[in-house]
Amino acid sequence: MSTATPLTKPVDDQPSDRGLSAAEIKRLKFQADTDQLVAAFNKDQLKLSNVDWVVTLFLIGVHVGALFAFMPMFFSWTGVAVCLALHWATCSIGICLGYHRYLAHKSMKLRAPAEFVAMACGCLSGEGSPLTWAATHRLHHQKSDQDGDPHSPIVVNGAWSHILWLFPKRTTESSRILYRRYVPELVDRPMLQFFEKTFALWLWGGGLVLLAAGWAIGGWQMGASLVVWGMCVRMVAAYHSTWFVNSATHLWGYRNYDTRDHSRNLWWVAILAYGEGWHNNHHAHPAVAPAGHKWWEFDITWWSIKALRAVGLAYDVKDKLPVGRAADESDQESDMMEKAVAGVA
Ligand SMILES: [Zn+2]
Ligand SMILES: [Zn+2]
Repeated sequence: MSTATPLTKPVDDQPSDRGLSAAEIKRLKFQADTDQLVAAFNKDQLKLSNVDWVVTLFLIGVHVGALFAFMPMFFSWTGVAVCLALHWATCSIGICLGYHRYLAHKSMKLRAPAEFVAMACGCLSGEGSPLTWAATHRLHHQKSDQDGDPHSPIVVNGAWSHILWLFPKRTTESSRILYRRYVPELVDRPMLQFFEKTFALWLWGGGLVLLAAGWAIGGWQMGASLVVWGMCVRMVAAYHSTWFVNSATHLWGYRNYDTRDHSRNLWWVAILAYGEGWHNNHHAHPAVAPAGHKWWEFDITWWSIKALRAVGLAYDVKDKLPVGRAADESDQESDMMEKAVAGVA
């Protein structure tokens, strides 16, 4: 009879077979996934050995490109006009309407052509794929200003919430958990899969189209002007407009609602980010399509939603403005989804 110690434990001793119920195993797996996700967005991930150089060098490159706008040889009124038009199309239609209110919060439904244009504009913004954006944003709402919030100025600091959180490299596994948990109903949609695979091509393609169009109408100098203004200046302006929503509107401004986070309404971010600066309103009632809840809280993106509804491209718009100071339970929707996935609801 052998007395040697077995190298591996007998199958019966494995944790999954120690009499744990299927629900307990699911809960343990769920907790392990949660821990991995919280760790992925922890500030400790920001170290030189863990920098996402693709994202970091791209953002540095766009900012350096925007500096060429100070050189008179790259100035043109055509470039400024293209910059303003694309800023509105990518930031207001692509991000605010498309990625944010439509995809992440389901504040309305869009007919396929409008959905396609909104997602394409989102890709042209340079803020990543629709699924990554929507999943990360749902995580922000669920964990807002608590551990696990990807970009809280309260938990970490203003610089982290504004830009630094974008720099750490995140693992394929943490992205898989993020998708499976936060956008389970979106992840298999063919149109979103298409943009998932092509979002970077839209961006580079947009730059090439501007270069070629400028070249055709005014030679290389006009081509360069359209790239500097229509891509670099436009993207830098739109980036910081969006990023101020993550940083400034969790720090400064007034509150209409008693939310569980530190969200604020800030007029100048509302102007820069096409209505998204009314962020306390939004955290209190995330699924409501208009972000401005008082008559003076102008929300330019809401005007576009109304226009799309008028021509039948948007429907089932959640436009009922809340009454009183209480936040609704919509922020808890993702908590419920999380529990449902874990099988503990
Ligand atoms: Zn927020
Ligand atoms: Zn939101």
